[in-house]
Amino acid sequence: MFYKFFKARFFPTSSVLESGVKSNGSYAWQSILKAREVVKQGAYWRIGDGASVQIRGDKCLPDMSTKHVISPQKNLPMNAKVCALIDEDGPRWITERVTQEFFPHEAQQILGIPLSSNQVLNLLIWVGTKSGKYTTKSAYKMLMSKPDLSTPSPSDTSAQTSCWKRIWYLNVSNKIKHFLWRACRESLPTKKNLLARNVTRNALCKWCNEEVEDSVHALWGCQVLKEVWWEEEILRNHLSMHFVDCRDLWIGITNLEEPNLAERFAFVAWSIWNKRNASGMHGTSLPFHLLY
Ligand SMILES: [Zn+2]
Repeated sequence: MFYKFFKARFFPTSSVLESGVKSNGSYAWQSILKAREVVKQGAYWRIGDGASVQIRGDKCLPDMSTKHVISPQKNLPMNAKVCALIDEDGPRWITERVTQEFFPHEAQQILGIPLSSNQVLNLLIWVGTKSGKYTTKSAYKMLMSKPDLSTPSPSDTSAQTSCWKRIWYLNVSNKIKHFLWRACRESLPTKKNLLARNVTRNALCKWCNEEVEDSVHALWGCQVLKEVWWEEEILRNHLSMHFVDCRDLWIGITNLEEPNLAERFAFVAWSIWNKRNASGMHGTSLPFHLLY
């Protein structure tokens, strides 16, 4: 009864998850909106025919640490629905389209989502319980597992806090957040750091052999990487810019306020770091397709 009343009054034609925020709403209504944010954080779509689920914006990936797709838009329009990736005759994923459109880790996740021949509905699943049904207790548990970022320690300046917040709220897995945080704190085992610990004899970048390998060089400044970052259109004008360290670079990236750019930056930087650790560089450039 309570729900019916509110639905009729505030979101007569949409679901509670889509309804816009009304600033003049009552206390109860404001509470519902707050609960809605929690549900959005902890729910993802079980794919049926995919016709009502947006590829970008709706959480359709089963990876619990991410919220939605971060791959840059390529061939499909921004508002394309998941059904554009599904072969109607199957039903099966159109593998070629999926691998072309998404970063490898996202393509792999999508292709791993089972599709049913039965006409199952697209359904929002709550991740906090085994049954997929929302309970207050599980929501509380989920919220409590996140660190409180509103009360910085005395040594934090506001800029540092905001830098950390931007990393924590990124829509990427925890291991990538952790990696980025270490890069911004200059605590990755770069050659500069290894030299300081007497683990290596020189700090020169192992790829270009020309400059000191600190984190901003290893992930961005190295000339070998220009081709990789060229892929990200909005960054092309910034390729020759000098950043004093990785934190400076990270702030520059977040200041651009391009949707999902921060996520893509984190993911690509992480991939570069893995590549650096995995292999030597033969040649002067690393094309994007060889990054993975
Ligand atoms: Zn280099």
